[in-house]
Amino acid sequence: MINFNEPPYTGKEMKYIAQAVEKHKICGDGEFTRKCSKWIEEKTGTAKCLLTTSCTHATEMAALLANIKPGDEVIMPAYTFVSTADAFVLRGGVPVFVDIRPDTMNLDEKLIEAAITEKTRAIVPVHYAGVACEMDTIMEIANRHGLIVIEDAAQGVMSAYKGKALGTFGEFGCFSFHETKNYSMGEGGALLIRDERYIEDAEIIREKGTNRSKFYRGQIDKYTWVNFGSSYLPSDMNAAYLYAQLEMAEEINGARMACWERYYERLMPLKEAGKLELPTVPEGCTHNAHMFYCKAADITERQALIDHLKKNDILSVFHYIPLHTAPAGQKFGRFHGEDRYTTKESERLLRLPMYYGLRLEQVDEICDKVKAFFR
Ligand SMILES: *Cc1c(COP(=O)(O)O)cnc(C)c1O
Repeated sequence: MINFNEPPYTGKEMKYIAQAVEKHKICGDGEFTRKCSKWIEEKTGTAKCLLTTSCTHATEMAALLANIKPGDEVIMPAYTFVSTADAFVLRGGVPVFVDIRPDTMNLDEKLIEAAITEKTRAIVPVHYAGVACEMDTIMEIANRHGLIVIEDAAQGVMSAYKGKALGTFGEFGCFSFHETKNYSMGEGGALLIRDERYIEDAEIIREKGTNRSKFYRGQIDKYTWVNFGSSYLPSDMNAAYLYAQLEMAEEINGARMACWERYYERLMPLKEAGKLELPTVPEGCTHNAHMFYCKAADITERQALIDHLKKNDILSVFHYIPLHTAPAGQKFGRFHGEDRYTTKESERLLRLPMYYGLRLEQVDEICDKVKAFFR
């Protein structure tokens, strides 16, 4: 059986978790949380990284920091995970869904401007599969209209656009360290903050509305309740698990990349024969092999391919029922313009197994079975 996903594991996780436990420091903001945040800050060049309990929570923090109010409109793709929209809906915001580009499955930057109204407050690009959205265009539009950009970079850790890390373009960037992502702590995420002016408020919101972070750094003698907030900081035990992988990020990235390239090479004959579409990585985008997807002719052929692979003990999945077609999407949001690609392309897309530890021979076996299906 070849699983679709297995959580990343390098071998040092248990040792680091034991260290956190032996130090009697298992709550948030301990040694491993600091190490992970510092690693992310150095690797991405962001002004500040705060580890969070999930990417969903990082996005919620961004919505609070952006001061999203009831009725404020937030432009995003409908082809995304529910969290992208949820974070804003919780504040009374209205997701305005815009069509995607069929080549990258990312928000079509050319359609953003027409969706802007006087209520628009933010743009939320989602870097699907760790392949960057067209950030030069998106930032230019946002700057011209005075909009905040919050990047859903859940899948984009270690990816870049024109050499700059994803999650560092907008005011806020959100990473996920869920079990299904390239680097994991079970459940967890991070908020990347571009401008220093937001750091103090972000630390307060993350610590139940208190200035405890300042207190821990010895900047004040006692801490108190200074603003609204919640509890968005993860346990140091979870951070310990994550740190084991961040230390080996290059190796993990390299191994995933090798699998991705192998898929691409082995499935190329099917693409050339017009039977299967393969992912596109535009120039200037450095991706992280977060996923390998392909596109069948339509939803029927996709299901037949999933069934065929399953019969051969290979688990493949599809995902993202477009949010504007879901009950909550209809209740809380609206689609602007025409759904030319979102539904059609989402129905053709199939994700093949991809995880750290997947072997090249297994990739070959999967590709052989995919080829057998089309024969
Ligand atoms: C995984 C994912 C999320 C949610 O991440 P959590 O850490 O589970 O909250 C949000 N957006 C996208 C695009 C994702 O892939």
